[in-house]
Amino acid sequence: MKSLKKVSIFGVTGSIGQSTADLILSDFERFDVCVVSAARSVDKLAEMAISLKAEIAVIADHSLLPRLEELLVNHDIKAMGGEQGLLDAASVPVDITVAAIVGMAGLKPLMVSIENSKAVAIANKEPLVSAGALVLKAAKEAGCKILPVDSEHNAIFQVFDPENKQHIKQIVLTASGGPFREWSREKMSVATVEQAMAHPNWSMGAKISVDSASMMNKALEIIEAYYLFEIEADKINVIIHPQSVAHSMVEYADGSYLAQMGASDMRTPIAYALAWPDRMQTCGERLDITALSKLEFHAPDCERFPALSRAYEVLEKGSWACIALNAANEVAVEAFLKKKIGFLDIMKVIDFVLESCDAKEIDSLEAVILYDEACRDIASNYIQAGLKSKVG
Ligand code: NAD
Ligand code: MG
Repeated sequence: MKSLKKVSIFGVTGSIGQSTADLILSDFERFDVCVVSAARSVDKLAEMAISLKAEIAVIADHSLLPRLEELLVNHDIKAMGGEQGLLDAASVPVDITVAAIVGMAGLKPLMVSIENSKAVAIANKEPLVSAGALVLKAAKEAGCKILPVDSEHNAIFQVFDPENKQHIKQIVLTASGGPFREWSREKMSVATVEQAMAHPNWSMGAKISVDSASMMNKALEIIEAYYLFEIEADKINVIIHPQSVAHSMVEYADGSYLAQMGASDMRTPIAYALAWPDRMQTCGERLDITALSKLEFHAPDCERFPALSRAYEVLEKGSWACIALNAANEVAVEAFLKKKIGFLDIMKVIDFVLESCDAKEIDSLEAVILYDEACRDIASNYIQAGLKSKVG
């Protein structure tokens, strides 16, 4: 008889959150759900809290707390609201927290979860990009195991031998290439939101879908890998693999490539993290290895997708530049989703912010938050000014 694993899920109503809920419901005897949270989808949050038999449901938008309380009135589930509600809920001790909020909004709850969870299954890549060193340091100090959920990092985690780290020649992150893999820059310049969201292999939230189309997602993943695996940037490479079957690989000194393969279904990496160090049956899609006719691997095109080069450039510059890249991207993607700017303008905003902000030593969480806010202001003002800088 296995003991119950106590789980909290931040961002339960999103794509990763729902996949996590599916897995938990498919093996319900194994888990005991503590916290579930969402930004604004209050009805969905209440419904999921009830089906998962959660102890606490938190709605980040405080104005929706009365509605959440009303929906949970006949249930033994505590309703909480606002940023403080998120932080209080993250301070409840659990075995594992699934960090599935999108963007830097997840940073503060993540840091509190690290203090109070034995393990954190992290999908929320943006805090790793902007505060990777601080996140990893806090986890080491608290004795919290960080389990990567992002499919590439989860794949690497499964084949990465920390005992033989000195023999690792390179990490190869695979990328599907996204919906614009074969598009020219001219065609991308008039790409619509719907086209950018139409990922060929994965079904994901809005922000990461746009990031995949610009390949900024892979750029963020290069930085994510740099912090998670504490490996030099020049040992992290990207390869285009349109089938999304090999989710990433590690090359060792003796010439061995170890890869993890599976269906393009996030339930596999989430299940790995949820069950770690054990394994669990998943309710997700399975790879039919006999139906695979070909697996292609190509070098990426950094001219059409400049985001990839930016990842190495910001790593070279320092953590302030990683924060600037991420903050500018979050603001620009939101503006693109609201149809305020074009698809290629996303990169224009990022480059403007990178050129406009000053290098700064970032050594605390407060410094990360302040710098992130300053970069967001530069990005928003630039967008408001119609992408025209006063400086010329
Ligand atoms: P999503 O947009 O589908 O869901 C985001 C969740 O976060 C929702 O529950 C939403 O209510 C909550 N949220 C949003 N803003 C919030 C805020 N300000 N405060 C509190 N909660 C907030 O996103 P997703 O696709 O599930 O992605 C979540 C994270 O996982 C992202 O960082 C993404 O890069 C990463 N990721 C996702 C996938 C995927 O397949 N979807 C794969 C790898 C990594
Ligand atoms: Mg990924």
